[in-house]
Amino acid sequence: MNYFANIRRIVVKVGTSTLTHDTGKLNLRRMDHLVRVLSDVRNRGIEVILVSSGAIGVGVGKLKLPSKPHDIGGRQACAAVGQCELMYIYDKFFGEYGHTTAQVLLTRDCVDDPRRLSNIRNAFDRLLDLGALPIINENDTVATEEIEFGDNDTLSAVVARIVKADALVILTDIDGLHAENPKQNPDAPLIHVVEEVTEDTRRIAGGAGSSRGTGGMYTKIIAAGQATREGITTAIIDGSTPENLYRLLEGEEIGTVFPARGGC
Ligand code: GLU
Repeated sequence: MNYFANIRRIVVKVGTSTLTHDTGKLNLRRMDHLVRVLSDVRNRGIEVILVSSGAIGVGVGKLKLPSKPHDIGGRQACAAVGQCELMYIYDKFFGEYGHTTAQVLLTRDCVDDPRRLSNIRNAFDRLLDLGALPIINENDTVATEEIEFGDNDTLSAVVARIVKADALVILTDIDGLHAENPKQNPDAPLIHVVEEVTEDTRRIAGGAGSSRGTGGMYTKIIAAGQATREGITTAIIDGSTPENLYRLLEGEEIGTVFPARGGC
């Protein structure tokens, strides 16, 4: 069954571990592939909204720091440096494929306040009407604990709801949700379809992510649960080969799919 037939608007989330090398520097070849695939999907007539992490990771690399700073100020500084670099590259690559990018940086207070939420919705509507391709990140430079999303998996589900997307695809560094943690049991089978995110799903998704990103499988499952409850079909697929997105859209059994449940 193709859960992604007839979609018109898709939110794609890509994490730091997919966008960067172990050095923290951008994986340009991967980014180029990703941008080419997203541009092509856009050319097919599907509106694409990209939620991209990587600001802090790229800032760490650019500032030649040995690791991600632990203090908020340090992380904010890295994000300020890294976000520029990230958008510079996206703009250049998408430009080469004929698309115009738009940077949107959000914090939780933006979406909790009804008036600001309506402003954001209007801005997205206009950007999409104008044919721009929005690229969203958390505004890490101003985000402190009270106003942060914490991870871009949660942010991607929020954005998918705001733009009333038909689908959310989370690209990550693993091929989907396994019945057990594959780092502990490499034979643990991949789960192809999760009809409902339950306590059991959350339990098997437990555990941390990589050192460069923030969320692990757990936050992706939570995001999938939130999105599907809003009527948005969600998938978690391996982003190391961005062409996997074509396979998903063509109905191939790839990654883990969370079919939409009722919703708007
Ligand atoms: N917003 C953070 C960044 O761009 C990443 C959050 C996450 O890893 O989910 O660096």
